[in-house]
Amino acid sequence: MWDLARFRKRTRRSFLGAGLGSVAALSLPLRKTHAVGELPRAKVLVVGAGLSGMYAARLLEQAGYDVQIVEARVRAGGRVLTLDDVPGRPDAGGSQIGPTYARFIHLAEQLDVELTNSTASLPLDFIVGDEIIKRNEWATHTSNQLAEQHRSITPDRLLTQLIGKSPYATLADWHKADFANLDFSAVQFFKELGVNEFGLRLLDANNAYGNSLARTSMLTLYHVLRNIEQAIAMGQPLLQVRGGTSRFVEALATGLNNKPVLNKAVRKLIHSANSIQAVCRDGSTFEANVVVFTTPVPALRQIEFEPNLPSALVSGFSEVNYHKVLQCYLSYPLSPSMDSIPNGGYWTDGLLGRVFQKALPSEGKTLSTIWINGDSCDAIDQLPDEDLKRHIIGEFAKTIPGMADMDKVEFHRLVRWHKDSDSHGSWVVWQPGQIRKYFDAFRQSYGNIYFAGAHTALSNRGLEAALESAERVTAEVLASQAIQ
Ligand SMILES: Cc1cc2nc3c(=O)[nH]c(=O)nc-3n(C[C@H](O)[C@H](O)[C@H](O)COP(=O)(O)OP(=O)(O)OC[C@H]3O[C@@H](n4cnc5c(N)ncnc54)[C@H](O)[C@@H]3O)c2cc1C
Repeated sequence: MWDLARFRKRTRRSFLGAGLGSVAALSLPLRKTHAVGELPRAKVLVVGAGLSGMYAARLLEQAGYDVQIVEARVRAGGRVLTLDDVPGRPDAGGSQIGPTYARFIHLAEQLDVELTNSTASLPLDFIVGDEIIKRNEWATHTSNQLAEQHRSITPDRLLTQLIGKSPYATLADWHKADFANLDFSAVQFFKELGVNEFGLRLLDANNAYGNSLARTSMLTLYHVLRNIEQAIAMGQPLLQVRGGTSRFVEALATGLNNKPVLNKAVRKLIHSANSIQAVCRDGSTFEANVVVFTTPVPALRQIEFEPNLPSALVSGFSEVNYHKVLQCYLSYPLSPSMDSIPNGGYWTDGLLGRVFQKALPSEGKTLSTIWINGDSCDAIDQLPDEDLKRHIIGEFAKTIPGMADMDKVEFHRLVRWHKDSDSHGSWVVWQPGQIRKYFDAFRQSYGNIYFAGAHTALSNRGLEAALESAERVTAEVLASQAIQ
C-alpha cells in the first residue's frame, strides 16, 4: 500500500487531525428546521461492519438516528484483521497509517486507541531468478538486465521512481475530466518510457496497485503517487495501531449504541420510496427507512435489488474487480546456527512475491509473511490449502541460508483475500476506462439507497478512504428528503 522507501524518517508525530471525527465537525447541509440531535429517529440500516460502516453508524447515531449494522462475517472489521493467534499478532489487512490520515489519527485519539511508529521495513535483499542479491549490489549485478538508464533503480522502487511526479495538484484531481487523457494502461506508459521486457516483468511481479500493469489505469497510479507525495511533504512517519488495527475496530464497536449483528449476509433488498427490507442469507429480515451499503463492489453482485438498480450501475458491479492478495504466515526458530535474516526480508520475482521478516526475540522466533500480489496468485489459486502450504514451505526454506530442516518452519495461517466472498480482494483496481464510467455512479444515492466504502472516496486511499466515505454518506443521509 505504501512505498516504504519514502518513509525512512522515524520521528514522533506532531500532526493533529483536522478536527474531524464527530458529526458536529462535519460540514453538513442540514435542513434548517432541524438542528443536530433533533432529527426524527429514522431507521438506518448499514450493510457491512468494516471501518466505513462502523464510522458511518457512529456519525449517524450522533446525529440522532436509530442505526443497525448487519455484517456477513462472524467478525467485525472487514478488511481490517489482526491475526491475534499468530506470533507477533500481525495485521493481515489494513495497517499502515500515513501522515495524511487526519480522520484516522483524530478518531484514534477520540477512541483512546494508541498509535505508534510503523515497524514495517524495506526488503534487504532481492531474489531474481534463483539468485539472492543484496540491495547495494543490485545496480552492478549480472542478473540485473534493466535498460542502462534504469539499472540503478532497485526492483521494489521501480514503479514509483519510473512514474516520476504526479501531474495532480490535489488528491482529488485523479477523477477530473482534465486528466481523462491519462486513463490508459500502465503497460503502455512504461513501454513508452523505454522499460524493457525484463523491467516490465519485474514491475508486474509485485505490483500492489493492479492485478497486471495492462489492466491498471495510469489515473490510479498517479493518484497513488500523489498520496505518497503529499505524505512526504508532511515530513511525518508512517504509523500503526499498537496491538493491531483490530483494536481500533473494537473501540469503534464499543462506542456504538447498537452493536453490529454478525453472520447476516444481505442477499436481497426490497425497496420503495420510504421503506427498505433487507433479506439475509439465513432468511432473516431487517426493516429500515434508509440503507447504506459499505460492501466492496464485487460483494454487491451477490445482492438482488427489487426493483433493480439502473443497469449502468449493475454492470459496474460485475466489471470492477479488486486486487488479488494471498498471504502465508510462517515462523521458524531464531537460532545462532541459522543465518537468520533480520527485519526486512526479501523482494522476489518468483512464487514467494514479497517476503516480510520480523524477529520476535521474546518468542524465540522469526515471523515471515509471504505476500503474493495480483495475477501471480493465479498459478497457485487452484491448489488445495495443504498442497499450497507444502509448496510454499519448500520454496521458503530454500531462501533461508542454513535452513536445512524444513520441519523447523511452522505454518500459521493462509489468507486468500481475493477468494473471500465478502471482500474479493484487498482494494479496488480501476482498469482503463472504468473510472470515468463508474466512479461517480458508485458514489451516488438511488432513492433511499446510499453507497459508501473505501472505493467511493474522492481523495484518500485505504483506511482513510473508508472514513472519508463514511463522512460523505452521513452528510448525504442527513441532507436527504427521504427521512423527513
Ligand atoms: C491485505 C490488505 C492490506 C491493506 N493494507 C492497508 C494499509 O496498510 N493501509 C491502508 O490504509 N489500507 C490498507 N488496506 C485497505 C483497508 O484495509 C481498506 O481500505 C479498508 O479497511 C476498507 O474498509 P471498508 O469499510 O470500506 O470495507 P470493508 O472493510 O471491506 O468492509 C465491508 C464489510 O461489508 C461486509 N459485507 C460484504 N458483503 C456483505 C453482505 N452481503 N451483507 C453484509 N455484510 C457484507 C464485509 O464482510 C465487510 O465487513 C489493506 C487491505 C488489505 C486487504
